[in-house]
Amino acid sequence: MSDIKTNEEEGKKSLNFIEAMVEKDLAEGKNDGRVQTRFPPEPNGYLHIGHAKAICLDFGIAERYNGICNLRFDDTNPVKEDVEYVDSIKEDIEWLGFKWNEIFYASDYFQQLYDFAVQLIREGKAYVDEQSSEVIAQQKGTPTQPGVESPYRNRPVEESLDLFARMNQGEFEEGSMILRAKIDMASPNMHFRDPIMYRIIHHPHHRTGSTWRVYPMYDFAHGQSDYFEGVTHSLCTLEFEVHRPLYDYYIDLLNDNDNYRPRQIEFNRLNLTYTVMSKRKLLQLVKEGLVNGWDDPRMPTICGYRRRGFTPQAIRNFIKKIGYTKYDGIIDMALLEHSVREDLNLTAPRVSAVLDPVKLIITNYPEGTVEMMEAINNPENPEAGSHKIAFTRELFIEREDFMEEAPKKFFRMTPGREVRLKNAYIVNCTGCRKNEAGEIIEIYAEYDPMTKTGMPESNRKVKGTLHWVSVEHSLPAEVRLYDRLFLAENPAEEKEKELQELLNPESLTVLTNCRIEMELANAKPYDHFQFQRLGYFNLDPDSQEGKLIFNRTVSLKDNWSKVKEKA
Ligand code: ATP
Ligand code: MG
Repeated sequence: MSDIKTNEEEGKKSLNFIEAMVEKDLAEGKNDGRVQTRFPPEPNGYLHIGHAKAICLDFGIAERYNGICNLRFDDTNPVKEDVEYVDSIKEDIEWLGFKWNEIFYASDYFQQLYDFAVQLIREGKAYVDEQSSEVIAQQKGTPTQPGVESPYRNRPVEESLDLFARMNQGEFEEGSMILRAKIDMASPNMHFRDPIMYRIIHHPHHRTGSTWRVYPMYDFAHGQSDYFEGVTHSLCTLEFEVHRPLYDYYIDLLNDNDNYRPRQIEFNRLNLTYTVMSKRKLLQLVKEGLVNGWDDPRMPTICGYRRRGFTPQAIRNFIKKIGYTKYDGIIDMALLEHSVREDLNLTAPRVSAVLDPVKLIITNYPEGTVEMMEAINNPENPEAGSHKIAFTRELFIEREDFMEEAPKKFFRMTPGREVRLKNAYIVNCTGCRKNEAGEIIEIYAEYDPMTKTGMPESNRKVKGTLHWVSVEHSLPAEVRLYDRLFLAENPAEEKEKELQELLNPESLTVLTNCRIEMELANAKPYDHFQFQRLGYFNLDPDSQEGKLIFNRTVSLKDNWSKVKEKA
């Protein structure tokens, strides 16, 4: 993981608005000069690339200001959470190249939170409400209309204390009672209208089992967890901006320390075109079998991108490029793919693969001869060296690289014209043979032995260069091509349609008849390659000996925008 640039190297240049706020706090001597952040995922799904944006910020700020960043699982809803998700989240953060200081769970604080709730009931700042959630919702009012006070709002403290304890002993049904903060039903901030603090859940918790029957709401858990841990800067997405006054309200009730106070700062979520970025919807895709699991290479999950062949560095470079702002928007997926190309261009060895093979016979080349041609691994990096590729009389080339009757500008293979075979010779096409159905089954050409790559330049101008593999010295392979998962540019906006209707029916194309050069026999799962002229590919972990499977990570050029213009 040492080839991943640290945030320090990446971010020396200019400050984003959050860094500026942190520097101001430091300059003012707040929190005794400490910087502490946390990344707080709820373990109810796999991380997506939006989370990578939060991760880069939470860990990046800590690193930049010699602080610490902890990983805190916000596990306050046992119904949706699972250890499977906890494990995957850890793996993904590490893969992105970040190290947490400690791991915490909101459930570590269940006792402290419970005690704090009891304290608030005693102080007359919380009460048990026995109304149904529907009635409570009706009483909320609107931003311009005050809400209606619950008939239970002024019940005796002793009664609430007793009921809250019995709620936690499992005496009451889910939904029959809740604990609410007693704040202000007329507040212009809806979150102050006696927000819910605790609800009853009987489902066992993945860590605490059946110890607890009441579980704190996000607003009653998050700020306090920050406070218990010593978080100084609690970074979250913009939708929490309206929750900030409530965050501060609870902290005020808890805090008796002049030198320390956690501060919530919000930034814009990452949204990407042609995909969805909500765990709930991603879970739906998985559950309904619309994709092949969380790590399907079409998914915007970290594990999906890993399997697809994206690199941590490419993702981090992308996050760096898009930056942090105070307004929401949607980022073009092409920008992420651009970062991936930029990174793989520097690192991926160049190899040859033919996706849709047709046989090319070099009729004047001796039968049985095998020439080992030198193939440069990476023109961007001389240190990457070279490997050998076998050249023989019978080769495979791409079917689409041949035309029997070609227009003038067709610089590939067609009878009567010359073309270069990459790393080998210039050949002159002499014809082809078709089967009864009119399909081309063999192409013929003659080579010029004086044109081997590396020989002194002849004065012949040859415009096209084709990739190829030897028939005998190549391996079969399956190649999976991916396209946008959704047809809609912003599927989240198409509220009236089912997720399924918005999918791109051609998001996956499986080619089972491909041929790859021998060099790839030693490829290991997740290894990256550039298939010359075709794109960047990696070896899929589904591969087995004798059955190699490659994923197309990205094509060499962004042809999506062109396709769209035509449509
Ligand atoms: P989702 O809506 O996808 O379920 P979430 O916000 O519920 O996401 P959490 O596990 O609570 O997911 O998120 C952990 C952290 O990641 C939070 O600080 C959250 O603000 C941040 N985060 C989640 N989605 C994005 C996103 N699209 N862009 C940036 N940060 C995000
Ligand atoms: Mg959440």
